[in-house]
Amino acid sequence: MRMHNRASASRAVESATVGARGSEPDLPTRFRCAACGNLTRFDVVETRRTRSYYHFTVGGGLEVEDQEVLGAEREQVTCRWCGLSDQIEELPVEPS
Ligand SMILES: [Zn+2]
Repeated sequence: MRMHNRASASRAVESATVGARGSEPDLPTRFRCAACGNLTRFDVVETRRTRSYYHFTVGGGLEVEDQEVLGAEREQVTCRWCGLSDQIEELPVEPS
């Protein structure tokens, strides 16, 4: 293995880590369907990475506590009114 390749690979990992830390899953945004004007009802498909505290009872019952969302990647947003998914706009929520 050449030194050159190792160096560039580790740099790529570093910048990927910074990007993941910078993404805020709870950023206040809302959706708007540009096709029909819907602002309130959407189907959202997303992949979430979470850390949770799994609290088992002695009998094996599970209670999931303290779930923390480490990252979320939205894959598709579909308007519940007109069914389109390619005209959904994401808007910042105006502070009231
Ligand atoms: Zn719509």
